[in-house]
Amino acid sequence: MRVVSLHPDVLVATSRVWQTSCTAIRSGDEGFVIDSPLFPDELEVLPAVLEQAGFPVSGLLATHGDWDHVLGRLAFPGAALGVAETTAAYLTGEPGAPQRELRAWDEENYVERPGPLSLGQVQALPVPGRVDVGEHELELHPADGHTADGMALWAPWARVLVCGDYLSPVEIPALSQTGSRDAYLATLERLRPLVAQADWVVPGHGAAIEGDRAAAILDEDVRYLTDWELPLTRRTATQRAVDAENRERAA
Ligand SMILES: [Zn+2]
Repeated sequence: MRVVSLHPDVLVATSRVWQTSCTAIRSGDEGFVIDSPLFPDELEVLPAVLEQAGFPVSGLLATHGDWDHVLGRLAFPGAALGVAETTAAYLTGEPGAPQRELRAWDEENYVERPGPLSLGQVQALPVPGRVDVGEHELELHPADGHTADGMALWAPWARVLVCGDYLSPVEIPALSQTGSRDAYLATLERLRPLVAQADWVVPGHGAAIEGDRAAAILDEDVRYLTDWELPLTRRTATQRAVDAENRERAA
Protein backbone atom coordinates (compact mmCIF):
# COMPACT_ATOMS: atom_id res chain seq x y z
CA MET A 1 0.00 0.00 0.00
CA ARG A 2 1.37 3.40 -1.03
CA VAL A 3 0.55 6.45 1.10
CA VAL A 4 0.97 9.99 -0.22
CA SER A 5 0.14 13.42 1.15
CA LEU A 6 -1.78 15.72 -1.22
CA HIS A 7 -2.27 18.54 1.27
CA PRO A 8 -1.54 18.97 5.00
CA ASP A 9 -5.13 17.76 5.62
CA VAL A 10 -5.33 15.01 2.96
CA LEU A 11 -3.61 11.62 2.76
CA VAL A 12 -4.27 8.98 0.12
CA ALA A 13 -3.50 5.29 0.55
CA THR A 14 -3.52 3.20 -2.62
CA SER A 15 -4.21 -0.53 -2.35
CA ARG A 16 -1.93 -3.07 -4.02
CA VAL A 17 -4.94 -4.50 -5.82
CA TRP A 18 -6.83 -2.51 -8.46
CA GLN A 19 -5.01 0.59 -7.12
CA THR A 20 -8.12 1.20 -5.01
CA SER A 21 -7.96 4.58 -3.24
CA CYS A 22 -8.61 5.32 0.40
CA THR A 23 -8.55 9.01 1.35
CA ALA A 24 -8.18 10.50 4.83
CA ILE A 25 -9.31 14.12 5.28
CA ARG A 26 -8.97 16.06 8.53
CA SER A 27 -9.63 19.45 10.04
CA GLY A 28 -8.86 20.18 13.67
CA ASP A 29 -9.67 17.15 15.77
CA GLU A 30 -12.13 15.67 13.27
CA GLY A 31 -11.49 13.50 10.24
CA PHE A 32 -13.04 11.08 7.78
CA VAL A 33 -11.79 8.04 5.89
CA ILE A 34 -13.32 7.77 2.42
CA ASP A 35 -13.42 4.29 0.79
CA SER A 36 -10.97 1.53 1.67
CA PRO A 37 -7.98 -0.58 0.66
CA LEU A 38 -8.65 -4.28 0.05
CA PHE A 39 -6.04 -6.57 1.55
CA PRO A 40 -6.27 -7.56 5.23
CA ASP A 41 -2.72 -6.36 5.99
CA GLU A 42 -3.51 -2.96 4.44
CA LEU A 43 -6.69 -2.61 6.51
CA GLU A 44 -4.84 -3.74 9.61
CA VAL A 45 -2.08 -1.16 9.32
CA LEU A 46 -4.36 1.75 8.32
CA PRO A 47 -5.32 2.91 11.87
CA ALA A 48 -1.66 3.08 12.92
CA VAL A 49 -0.64 4.91 9.73
CA LEU A 50 -3.34 7.54 10.26
CA GLU A 51 -2.66 7.87 13.97
CA GLN A 52 1.03 8.38 13.37
CA ALA A 53 0.27 11.06 10.78
CA GLY A 54 -2.13 12.77 13.22
CA PHE A 55 -5.29 12.05 11.24
CA PRO A 56 -8.27 11.50 13.59
CA VAL A 57 -11.06 9.22 12.39
CA SER A 58 -14.50 10.46 13.43
CA GLY A 59 -16.32 8.45 10.79
CA LEU A 60 -16.20 6.56 7.51
CA LEU A 61 -17.58 7.63 4.15
CA ALA A 62 -17.94 5.69 0.91
CA THR A 63 -18.24 7.10 -2.61
CA HIS A 64 -20.60 4.28 -3.64
CA GLY A 65 -21.84 0.87 -2.53
CA ASP A 66 -19.57 -1.44 -4.55
CA TRP A 67 -18.05 -3.93 -2.12
CA ASP A 68 -14.44 -2.90 -2.79
CA HIS A 69 -15.15 0.62 -1.49
CA VAL A 70 -17.01 -0.17 1.75
CA LEU A 71 -14.43 -2.19 3.72
CA GLY A 72 -13.53 0.64 6.12
CA ARG A 73 -15.19 -1.04 9.10
CA LEU A 74 -12.68 -3.88 8.87
CA ALA A 75 -10.09 -1.27 9.89
CA PHE A 76 -12.32 0.84 12.16
CA PRO A 77 -14.97 -1.51 13.58
CA GLY A 78 -16.54 1.11 15.84
CA ALA A 79 -16.97 3.83 13.22
CA ALA A 80 -20.24 4.73 11.49
CA LEU A 81 -20.39 4.62 7.70
CA GLY A 82 -21.89 7.61 5.91
CA VAL A 83 -23.06 7.20 2.32
CA ALA A 84 -25.27 9.00 -0.19
CA GLU A 85 -29.01 8.34 0.18
CA THR A 86 -28.83 6.47 -3.14
CA THR A 87 -26.13 4.19 -1.75
CA ALA A 88 -28.03 3.63 1.50
CA ALA A 89 -31.05 2.60 -0.60
CA TYR A 90 -28.90 0.17 -2.58
CA LEU A 91 -27.41 -1.35 0.59
CA THR A 92 -30.88 -1.72 2.13
CA GLY A 93 -32.33 -3.17 -1.06
CA GLU A 94 -29.54 -5.73 -1.47
CA PRO A 95 -28.77 -6.73 2.11
CA GLY A 96 -25.53 -8.68 2.42
CA ALA A 97 -24.43 -7.99 -1.16
CA PRO A 98 -21.04 -6.44 -0.28
CA GLN A 99 -20.37 -9.26 2.18
CA ARG A 100 -21.21 -11.94 -0.41
CA GLU A 101 -19.05 -10.32 -3.08
CA LEU A 102 -16.17 -9.84 -0.65
CA ARG A 103 -16.38 -13.51 0.36
CA ALA A 104 -16.40 -14.63 -3.28
CA TRP A 105 -13.38 -12.47 -4.11
CA ASP A 106 -11.50 -13.69 -1.04
CA GLU A 107 -12.18 -17.31 -1.98
CA GLU A 108 -11.09 -16.77 -5.56
CA ASN A 109 -7.85 -15.11 -4.46
CA TYR A 110 -7.11 -17.31 -1.41
CA VAL A 111 -7.35 -14.30 0.89
CA GLU A 112 -8.02 -14.99 4.57
CA ARG A 113 -9.48 -12.37 6.90
CA PRO A 114 -9.63 -12.25 10.69
CA GLY A 115 -13.41 -11.69 10.68
CA PRO A 116 -16.48 -10.99 8.57
CA LEU A 117 -17.51 -7.54 7.33
CA SER A 118 -20.28 -5.77 9.19
CA LEU A 119 -21.38 -2.40 7.82
CA GLY A 120 -22.89 -1.45 11.17
CA GLN A 121 -25.03 1.62 11.23
CA VAL A 122 -25.21 3.06 7.73
CA GLN A 123 -26.00 6.76 7.74
CA ALA A 124 -27.81 8.13 4.68
CA LEU A 125 -26.52 11.58 3.68
CA PRO A 126 -28.55 13.98 1.53
CA VAL A 127 -26.75 14.62 -1.76
CA PRO A 128 -26.19 17.32 -2.88
CA GLY A 129 -25.26 18.33 0.63
CA ARG A 130 -22.47 19.03 3.07
CA VAL A 131 -20.68 17.30 5.92
CA ASP A 132 -18.86 19.26 8.62
CA VAL A 133 -15.23 18.39 9.27
CA GLY A 134 -13.71 20.47 12.06
CA GLU A 135 -13.88 24.08 10.90
CA HIS A 136 -14.43 23.11 7.27
CA GLU A 137 -17.10 21.44 5.14
CA LEU A 138 -16.99 18.64 2.62
CA GLU A 139 -19.34 19.15 -0.33
CA LEU A 140 -21.24 16.09 -1.54
CA HIS A 141 -22.17 15.92 -5.22
CA PRO A 142 -24.26 13.23 -6.94
CA ALA A 143 -22.09 10.80 -8.93
CA ASP A 144 -24.14 8.10 -10.62
CA GLY A 145 -23.61 6.37 -13.94
CA HIS A 146 -20.90 3.85 -13.04
CA THR A 147 -23.57 2.48 -10.72
CA ALA A 148 -27.02 3.91 -9.96
CA ASP A 149 -25.76 5.28 -6.64
CA GLY A 150 -22.88 7.36 -5.38
CA MET A 151 -21.36 10.72 -4.58
CA ALA A 152 -18.22 12.72 -5.21
CA LEU A 153 -16.65 14.66 -2.35
CA TRP A 154 -15.08 18.08 -2.77
CA ALA A 155 -12.81 19.53 -0.07
CA PRO A 156 -12.73 23.24 -1.05
CA TRP A 157 -10.04 24.31 1.41
CA ALA A 158 -7.65 21.64 0.15
CA ARG A 159 -8.83 21.78 -3.48
CA VAL A 160 -9.07 17.99 -3.54
CA LEU A 161 -11.85 16.09 -5.33
CA VAL A 162 -12.56 12.47 -4.33
CA CYS A 163 -14.77 11.28 -7.15
CA GLY A 164 -15.33 7.52 -6.82
CA ASP A 165 -15.17 5.39 -9.96
CA TYR A 166 -14.75 8.24 -12.45
CA LEU A 167 -11.69 9.93 -14.01
CA SER A 168 -9.40 6.96 -13.50
CA PRO A 169 -5.96 7.01 -15.16
CA VAL A 170 -5.90 3.19 -15.17
CA GLU A 171 -9.42 2.13 -16.17
CA ILE A 172 -11.95 3.26 -18.74
CA PRO A 173 -15.46 4.27 -17.63
CA ALA A 174 -17.22 1.09 -16.49
CA LEU A 175 -21.00 0.76 -16.70
CA SER A 176 -21.92 -1.79 -14.07
CA GLN A 177 -25.24 -3.64 -14.03
CA THR A 178 -27.05 -0.62 -12.59
CA GLY A 179 -24.95 1.88 -14.55
CA SER A 180 -26.09 4.20 -17.32
CA ARG A 181 -24.21 5.90 -20.13
CA ASP A 182 -26.35 9.06 -19.98
CA ALA A 183 -26.03 9.30 -16.21
CA TYR A 184 -22.26 8.76 -16.48
CA LEU A 185 -21.93 11.58 -19.02
CA ALA A 186 -24.08 13.86 -16.82
CA THR A 187 -21.84 13.10 -13.84
CA LEU A 188 -18.73 13.95 -15.86
CA GLU A 189 -20.25 17.34 -16.75
CA ARG A 190 -21.18 17.87 -13.07
CA LEU A 191 -17.57 17.11 -12.09
CA ARG A 192 -16.05 19.35 -14.77
CA PRO A 193 -16.20 22.67 -12.82
CA LEU A 194 -14.83 20.96 -9.70
CA VAL A 195 -11.98 19.40 -11.69
CA ALA A 196 -11.17 22.86 -13.09
CA GLN A 197 -10.63 24.15 -9.54
CA ALA A 198 -8.91 21.05 -8.20
CA ASP A 199 -5.22 20.77 -7.35
CA TRP A 200 -5.70 17.01 -7.03
CA VAL A 201 -8.31 14.50 -8.06
CA VAL A 202 -8.51 11.13 -6.31
CA PRO A 203 -10.17 8.54 -8.53
CA GLY A 204 -11.59 5.31 -7.11
CA HIS A 205 -8.83 3.36 -8.86
CA GLY A 206 -5.38 4.67 -9.75
CA ALA A 207 -3.04 7.20 -8.17
CA ALA A 208 -4.17 10.75 -7.44
CA ILE A 209 -3.82 12.98 -10.48
CA GLU A 210 -3.34 16.73 -10.85
CA GLY A 211 -6.29 18.82 -11.98
CA ASP A 212 -4.96 19.37 -15.53
CA ARG A 213 -4.49 15.68 -16.12
CA ALA A 214 -7.92 14.90 -14.68
CA ALA A 215 -9.44 17.44 -17.10
CA ALA A 216 -7.75 15.64 -20.01
CA ILE A 217 -9.03 12.27 -18.77
CA LEU A 218 -12.51 13.75 -18.42
CA ASP A 219 -12.45 14.75 -22.11
CA GLU A 220 -11.19 11.30 -23.11
CA ASP A 221 -13.95 9.66 -21.08
CA VAL A 222 -16.63 11.83 -22.69
CA ARG A 223 -15.22 10.83 -26.10
CA TYR A 224 -15.19 7.17 -25.10
CA LEU A 225 -18.81 7.20 -23.89
CA THR A 226 -19.95 9.17 -26.93
CA ASP A 227 -18.09 7.33 -29.71
CA TRP A 228 -16.65 4.23 -27.96
CA GLU A 229 -13.19 5.52 -28.81
CA LEU A 230 -10.79 3.83 -26.39
CA PRO A 231 -8.27 6.21 -24.76
CA LEU A 232 -4.72 5.57 -26.01
CA THR A 233 -3.24 4.79 -22.61
CA ARG A 234 -6.11 2.57 -21.44
CA ARG A 235 -6.26 -0.21 -24.02
CA THR A 236 -5.08 -3.26 -22.08
CA ALA A 237 -6.82 -6.62 -22.47
CA THR A 238 -8.70 -5.96 -19.21
CA GLN A 239 -9.95 -2.57 -20.41
CA ARG A 240 -10.98 -4.06 -23.76
CA ALA A 241 -13.07 -6.61 -21.86
CA VAL A 242 -14.71 -3.77 -19.87
CA ASP A 243 -15.32 -2.00 -23.20
CA ALA A 244 -17.10 -5.06 -24.64
CA GLU A 245 -19.33 -5.28 -21.55
CA ASN A 246 -20.11 -1.55 -21.69
CA ARG A 247 -21.24 -1.78 -25.31
CA GLU A 248 -23.46 -4.73 -24.51
CA ARG A 249 -25.06 -2.91 -21.58
CA ALA A 250 -25.58 0.30 -23.55
CA ALA A 251 -27.11 -1.53 -26.51
ZN1 LIG B 1 -14.45 0.36 -7.69
